[in-house]
Amino acid sequence: MSSQPNPERLVYLDHSATTPVRPEVLAAMLPYFANKFGNASSVHRWGYEARQAINDAREKVASLIEASPNEILFTSGGTESDNLAIRGVAHSRKAKGKHLITSQIEHHAVLHTFEALQKEGFEVTFVPCDKYGLIDPDDIKRAIRKDTILISIMHGQNEVGTIEPIKDIGAIAREHGVLFHTDAVQSAGKVPIDVRDMNIDLLTVSSHKIYGPKGVGALYVRKGVRLVPQITGGAHERRMRAGTENVPGIVGFGEACRLAKADLPEESQRLANLRDKLIQGILDKIPDVVLNGHPTLRLPHNVNVSVKYLEGESILLNLDRMGVAASSGSACTSGSLEPSHVLLAMGLSHETAHGSLRFTLGRSNTEEDIDYVLEVLPPIVEKLRSMSPLGPGSGL
Ligand SMILES: *Cc1c(COP(=O)(O)O)cnc(C)c1O
Repeated sequence: MSSQPNPERLVYLDHSATTPVRPEVLAAMLPYFANKFGNASSVHRWGYEARQAINDAREKVASLIEASPNEILFTSGGTESDNLAIRGVAHSRKAKGKHLITSQIEHHAVLHTFEALQKEGFEVTFVPCDKYGLIDPDDIKRAIRKDTILISIMHGQNEVGTIEPIKDIGAIAREHGVLFHTDAVQSAGKVPIDVRDMNIDLLTVSSHKIYGPKGVGALYVRKGVRLVPQITGGAHERRMRAGTENVPGIVGFGEACRLAKADLPEESQRLANLRDKLIQGILDKIPDVVLNGHPTLRLPHNVNVSVKYLEGESILLNLDRMGVAASSGSACTSGSLEPSHVLLAMGLSHETAHGSLRFTLGRSNTEEDIDYVLEVLPPIVEKLRSMSPLGPGSGL
């Protein structure tokens, strides 16, 4: 990265990976590092001050999803919230049954937690999705057994943006006396959420995906639902998650939720317009490209396409040289370049899955950013294809 060229524009289109902290959020957090540094469990004014700040933040997080403040537990992020929901319910209800239901297209924080529970002796059904990444509530209904104790299905799919029918799935779960968890990390702040209306018992949110700081998140736990704590210690967070609270992080997360709720209707519409412009522009300007994910039941900030005959990775490197940040559906983090489990579950061939590119929009993006991407991407694809041994004639 030392010989990076100086592109004329920098365009960050990876907001599903993480977002910058909003200035208002940072300003809200700053006093709680040094000045207002108390431990919220302490019985003195420093402690009360911290406790009050946490209570305020709890109200703001609750309000984003129409929950009560006492139904919000603070955690270290989306991954921990998913772990706590799934393991916490599995361990608290194992006398009732050992069967769990999830989908093939969950985030690894959910998928790998279920796989770990299989090793503990739980049985897990991984329901499939259709070619748009959509899960059929009837498949969930058919998977339910007498010993089913938990269903976990995500709200907005993080790679392809498909919005799942969680209200219907929640209704089915409730009808059968099964608890329902949803990972709403990608949808919170983008799509309205009402935990009661949507029949949700447990819901995961993460701060750094909605312009709050990293390392903080929340789990909504409906009143009356019991969890076995996964971190033991003091009596923090209704005895369900021990550890001295991350007060500055929680304050920032609360402020991020308040702002996200206030901005939601307008900002989501703005993002959806930019999204549609980017999708249409790519499909119009580049031959042999397919849109991944659902055409309409889609997160407002997600664009995912497969560029045939190419590797997503090589396009990413070239985009980065031009100042554009995106991501691909290959798990390069594992060093293996395995194609995404989500794209494979949707029925894409390995080749098409390897050519996937994800652009996720956010607050900083403008129409000019989209124009810039539509100007630099087609020549990159053309150049790479001219050098590629693959192609329409190669049978791939
Ligand atoms: C980012 C993400 C997570 C993990 O959240 P962290 O706060 O980064 O641990 C979980 N689920 C989904 C869908 C995500 O996009």
